[in-house]
Amino acid sequence: MQVRRIPREDHPVSRKLISNAALKVLYGLRDAGYEAHLVGGAVRDILAGIPPKDFDIATNARPEQLRQVFRTARLIGRRFVIAHVRFGNEIIEVTTFRGAITDSHERDETGRILSDNEYGSIETDAIRRDFTVNALYYDIEDYAVVDFTGGIEDINNRLIRLIGDPELRYREDPVRMMRAVRIANKLRFTIEPASEEAIYRLAPLLREIPAARLFDEIIKILLTVDAVANFRGLRVRGLFGELFPHTEATLKRHPGFESFIVKALENTAKRIAEDQPVTPAFLYAAILWPCVAERFVQLMQREGLHPNLALTQAADEAIALANGRVTIPKRFAMPMQEIWALQPRLEQRKGGKPARLLTHPRFRAAYDFLVLRAEVGDASKELADWWTAVQLQPGALPPIEDEEESAAPGNDGKPKKRRRRSGRNRNKPAGNA
Ligand code: ATP
Ligand code: MG
Repeated sequence: MQVRRIPREDHPVSRKLISNAALKVLYGLRDAGYEAHLVGGAVRDILAGIPPKDFDIATNARPEQLRQVFRTARLIGRRFVIAHVRFGNEIIEVTTFRGAITDSHERDETGRILSDNEYGSIETDAIRRDFTVNALYYDIEDYAVVDFTGGIEDINNRLIRLIGDPELRYREDPVRMMRAVRIANKLRFTIEPASEEAIYRLAPLLREIPAARLFDEIIKILLTVDAVANFRGLRVRGLFGELFPHTEATLKRHPGFESFIVKALENTAKRIAEDQPVTPAFLYAAILWPCVAERFVQLMQREGLHPNLALTQAADEAIALANGRVTIPKRFAMPMQEIWALQPRLEQRKGGKPARLLTHPRFRAAYDFLVLRAEVGDASKELADWWTAVQLQPGALPPIEDEEESAAPGNDGKPKKRRRRSGRNRNKPAGNA
């Protein structure tokens, strides 16, 4: 292995760019006689010229030793023990150098590594990481950046390259395919051809990943400012279809729904950029909406269900299908169902219903959802504008311009008329004519 050491004066990683908490951990370890390096996303981001988001530290101290240095360290046992050291509200992730992957590692039949708990040196740790740009170490001893895998050259050429044989490395952990897309978009880098090509072949390996881990990874990739680029990046490589096979199939039948998801992701990205809160529930509600909407229409038209009932059933089915791949925790599934359930209810504007809806805890999210639907022609613009007006002048309900709309089901207990119109509408989702 060729090691390259770049002295402090030749690289931009400065202590000014590293958080106080991370510096405390680095110096604390060094003062206790251990090796300590900043590694991963922070070093990569600084070298690529963007501000680091969080700080990961690698050390030769074992987890028990770490706890002696930092009394408050919490050991988190996932596949590999990680220590979380907290200073104020900042949490620094510290890992002990990992050992080399050998044939003795337990794998499943697709090559995925199942057990992984051997310690090693900085060299073995470096080649265990995913991409060359993620395996650069900033040494607190002399402030040099250490490169074991050619990461510096790849940063200069703006390339995301797996360390070692791409096929083998994706097989070890298929989530790396999603990480490649996410990190490339974040840095505006390109995925190096061999690392790129393998994704198209190996995308189905995502099926091997536990559904709970996929939920977390999807949040990381779609609840960010790069959500739209990531969504497209996942789709073209066949990864999205592995995560959400039913949404992908519905998008093939009704391509118009793609612009709805894109709108929802743009909305999310904008909110994140403006430091407004975002919830996975809204994101998942949008991703599964094509399935819900399609089934909703079927249940009304073929089975004659009342819209409210059709929606509830379509929602239950969509969540059950999605859960086959990606676990959607109950605390998110419930608000998702509420956002969806409110969609047909927002069309029922007679009597005391609107006033009651306004006080519904999920009204705001459901309204935002309706506005997005209206933007792509999946709901009536008049309806969305009406609800906007209602909120601007609470107390007085604005007139309903759309005559047909006012014949909403539930008002007269005869949903028939409404049902046909609604069906026509939804059969032709955005731009899908
Ligand atoms: P960011 O924090 O900006 O999302 P990151 O690269 O720091 O990106 P983390 O999940 O914080 O992502 O991981 C920290 C480091 O751990 C990575 O830079 C990489 O070196 C290593 N790593 C993370 N996930 C994997 C993986 N699946 N396989 C191999 N190495 C990984
Ligand atoms: Mg990180």
